[in-house]
Amino acid sequence: MTEKPKLGVYICHCGINIASTVDVEAVTEFAKGLPNVIVARNYAYMCSDPGQLLIKNDIKEEGVNRVVVASCSPRMHEPTFRKALQEAGLNPFFLEMANIREHCSWVHGDREEATAKARRLVAAAVAKVRQLEPLEEREVDAEPAALVIGGGIAGIQAALDIADAGFKVYLVEKTPSVGGRMAQLDKTFPTLDCSACILTPKMVDTASHPNIQLMTYSEVEEVSGYIGNFDVKVRKKARYVDFDKCTGCGECAAACRMANRIPNEFDAGMGKRSAIYLPFPQAVPAKYTIDPENCLYLTRGKCGKGPKCAEVCRAGAINFEQQDEIVEFKVGAIVVATGFDVFEARKKPEYGYADYPNVITGLEMERLVSASGPTGGQIKIKVEDEEIVPKEIAFIQCVGSRDKSVGNEYCSRVCCMYTAKQAHLVKDKIPDANVRVYYMDVRAFGKGFEEFYDRVRREGIHYIRGNPSEIFKRGSKLVIKVEDTLTATPMEDEVDLVVLAVGLEPRQDVRKIIDLLRLSQSPDLFFLEAHPKLRPVDTATDGVFLAGCCQGPKDIPDTVAQAKGAASSAMIPLARGKVKIGAQVATVNENTCRGCGFCVEICPYSAIELVAVNRFGHPVQVARVNEALCKGCGSCSAGCLSDSIQPKSFRDRQILPQIAALGVMR
Ligand code: FAD
Ligand code: SF4
Ligand code: SF4
Ligand code: SF4
Ligand code: SF4
Repeated sequence: MTEKPKLGVYICHCGINIASTVDVEAVTEFAKGLPNVIVARNYAYMCSDPGQLLIKNDIKEEGVNRVVVASCSPRMHEPTFRKALQEAGLNPFFLEMANIREHCSWVHGDREEATAKARRLVAAAVAKVRQLEPLEEREVDAEPAALVIGGGIAGIQAALDIADAGFKVYLVEKTPSVGGRMAQLDKTFPTLDCSACILTPKMVDTASHPNIQLMTYSEVEEVSGYIGNFDVKVRKKARYVDFDKCTGCGECAAACRMANRIPNEFDAGMGKRSAIYLPFPQAVPAKYTIDPENCLYLTRGKCGKGPKCAEVCRAGAINFEQQDEIVEFKVGAIVVATGFDVFEARKKPEYGYADYPNVITGLEMERLVSASGPTGGQIKIKVEDEEIVPKEIAFIQCVGSRDKSVGNEYCSRVCCMYTAKQAHLVKDKIPDANVRVYYMDVRAFGKGFEEFYDRVRREGIHYIRGNPSEIFKRGSKLVIKVEDTLTATPMEDEVDLVVLAVGLEPRQDVRKIIDLLRLSQSPDLFFLEAHPKLRPVDTATDGVFLAGCCQGPKDIPDTVAQAKGAASSAMIPLARGKVKIGAQVATVNENTCRGCGFCVEICPYSAIELVAVNRFGHPVQVARVNEALCKGCGSCSAGCLSDSIQPKSFRDRQILPQIAALGVMR
């Protein structure tokens, strides 16, 4: 027999957050008169140790067996109070919270009205708590392995940390090499470290680490399951080169009939590569790949008298019969580190990026100044078939950032500093160059940034506050039309080279990852973290974490810090070997379920499937909930026409009295 409910109601002042608007004494007196309430108290901070002690003592000494706490949002302190109940020996799910802070004191100014509403919320919570049932949280085993998606510096760091802790890591990178954007950079601000020098050892470690299974030129195709038990399918794309035989000698690329004819992505399209290629000299793994979109044999079925690559490859590594391979494995946690795209400069036609070869992006500038770039590090550009060393050089900041006209309201956080870095490198390589930077504000917020910004100005880089409106051609020069907003002077500036400090954007192909992992996007369309301050690396999908620029623009130190955070969060279930399964999950009444499958369609977490059962001697289909996947959101319940599926703690018999109490009590 169920015990008679004996309720304790606890009203919090939240300092003066609640008490200055809600008459907590009046609400306490009111609560004392509600059915089954044996104790009602108010206290300055119910969440504090003494506050919790009041509840615990009443459970132990007064026999309270149901608790209502009227305080802040359950998102803040529901776990705190559940724990208090549990410590006092009561089932932690015999708790209901009334949110009289966010729903009353913070949104209403009138004390009387706010107090009246607080009374109703408390009455509603009392009505519901009387109907609650005891629930149990369960634990299931967690697979001691992780999947890291994306092999930029974020993914590399996360993979190395998890692997160093002794767990198996599957690192999946879409392109033929790990490294991401950082591999494309020349030097890095503000310390001017050589990017490749600090990155390549880590890239090499990912390939040689005994706990890391590196899968480059691969993509995640399917993820099912839940925290601790994700089933993953990865497509390893055919390279048409035998991975084990290829020695990385490069003779195929030199002999390829498409040699130097395909824009090289690594050089931001400035240099050219072959149809069989290594993305860049330090690529990991150092294995060649045939690009199926540009190889003559793969696109036309014929390459001269026969594939030249196969003819010269002494290792016999070319294999046009190779097929994509599907690899399946299980992991307990997933780190998403898929990075960013740079802003498409053509979306600002007034800057003439599509029209003038001497208008380039910041990423192209990285390749131009790099010793491994298309010009061997010399800053040379071709204007009207003539190669020149530019002497008048302008940088324009905030291209595609802080610009509502292109839909990007946010600051990209790195372009002020990468501009300063590139301006310094230009001055270093062309000492007699006149370099100026057009800016809106300079955001030099990180460690050593302000000092670096000061340094480049001392080196003679001229900063002009103004947002250019147009770039056009005059003779062999480019003219920047701009107003110096500090002196309100309209001006025209004649230059040889313009560098657009393009911002960072979410990747074009994010949709696929969103659908695979049920991620959300913030208004800027980067992946949304679970909480901007307190859970910055978590997502709404348990067991899936974010690292690096896929969550928002950031520089390398912040990317690495976040990757380390994501790795350590991902390791919690792996190290425990167990994960908790929520208790407030949906249950199906199999006797009334019609097996229509509406709920299966509706469930945003794919937690329901139809299964065959025997009902009163007849085979029927009914819905069944995977409790590990269910979040208790209630969507299925709203959609079920026969009221056969309801989440525990939110059943009709629990919610209807709550609604009734809200409506009638004053
Ligand atoms: P990325 O470098 O973008 O790596 C993401 C990786 O994930 C890529 O390898 C990509 O191929 C892979 N990927 C994407 N989708 C998938 C998928 N679905 N499956 C598998 N793999 C996938 N920062 C500094 O601190 N100092 C600097 O000097 C500096 N200069 C910069 C200059 C420029 C022009 C730019 C644009 C940025 C600069 N930055 C600098 C910022 C720096 O590039 C980033 O902080 C860093 O690259 C972020 O790393 P990431 O791993 O998050 O993303
Ligand atoms: Fe690899 Fe053969 Fe090309 Fe050498 S020639 S890089 S072994 S595929
Ligand atoms: Fe180049 Fe021809 Fe070999 Fe294709 S088949 S990679 S085009 S040499
Ligand atoms: Fe503009 Fe600087 Fe922000 Fe980039 S970092 S968007 S250049 S303010
Ligand atoms: Fe799916 Fe939500 Fe129903 Fe659970 S409560 S089965 S998550 S719709």
